[in-house]
Amino acid sequence: MTETRDAVADLRRIAFLLERAHESTYRVRAFRTAAAVLRRRDPDEIARLARTGELVRLKGVGDVTARCVVESVSGEPPAYLQRLEAIEPTPLDEAAEALVEALRGDCHTHTDASDGGSPLREMVETAQALGHDYLVITDHSPRLTVANGLSAERLRAQLEAIAELNAELGEGFRVLTGIEVDINEDGSLDQDEALLAELDVVVASVHSKLRMPRAEMTERMLAAIDNPHVDVLGHCTGRMVTGSRKRPESQFDAAEVFAACAERGVAVEVNSRPERLDPPRRLLRLAAEAGCEFTIDTDAHAPGQLDWLRNGCERAAECAVPAERILNTWSVERLLTRPRG
Ligand SMILES: [Zn+2]
Ligand SMILES: [Zn+2]
Repeated sequence: MTETRDAVADLRRIAFLLERAHESTYRVRAFRTAAAVLRRRDPDEIARLARTGELVRLKGVGDVTARCVVESVSGEPPAYLQRLEAIEPTPLDEAAEALVEALRGDCHTHTDASDGGSPLREMVETAQALGHDYLVITDHSPRLTVANGLSAERLRAQLEAIAELNAELGEGFRVLTGIEVDINEDGSLDQDEALLAELDVVVASVHSKLRMPRAEMTERMLAAIDNPHVDVLGHCTGRMVTGSRKRPESQFDAAEVFAACAERGVAVEVNSRPERLDPPRRLLRLAAEAGCEFTIDTDAHAPGQLDWLRNGCERAAECAVPAERILNTWSVERLLTRPRG
């Protein structure tokens, strides 16, 4: 008898690999939806529906996903999955690989509460499968309406959901609370101060008026860095290096901004998204020389993108960022109790 395969696990693996390959959330949705539908059903029933060709009658299961399930149920890895598994990730050098090994979590990730493609639980399960100790959830703030930013009320509901999930998960993995808060044009932050104070990790990022004059942008960033609740300065230049949304770096006095980060204990983020790779190498070297601390983050908007830390590790190693100054090489306890400037 052939060994039975877990058809739902195969669908989720396909989705993960597509997301990792930077396919749009829309293209991946068919696999995520089918996995969610079938997860609620008994494996024997799935096998029966596969044999009788009735899978496509289930809402959320289409021709392509049904074919994958039929192959899984027959004991074969789906051809679709085999094609994706055959694509090897680009190898890293020794220093970058050592950093990948040293990272324990991810400090900048999104769920479908804002503009991510998957629910909290799916992101968390994937982070666990990747061997992380923790995952910080940092959905967008209210003014970023295009990304469905969370009102104070919605963020509070998310904090409750995270507390419940943590209670369920028990020891060994922590979901940390957080936000990617917009830095307003005047340098103030787009969320209640009292609520920011409750969060484990606050990532502050510029998402609007990226072309403002250099002096104003510097003041804007310095004001945010000065806010005692800010832990991480997200994708500091806002540049986009590939794709249809290409745009140049915003202009600011990097020496001054990084000096302030070092003094205030605000970590400079190494953003691993392939279209961002922010900061650029010359600025990353400058920040390292300025004595800054760092985080290497995926800014994942889908579970498979949680595997993008490799991109950031490659750049951090290239720019001689010391592992000791990368906060996500630390234990979660040390991360949460670190002294701030
Ligand atoms: Zn952002
Ligand atoms: Zn983000």
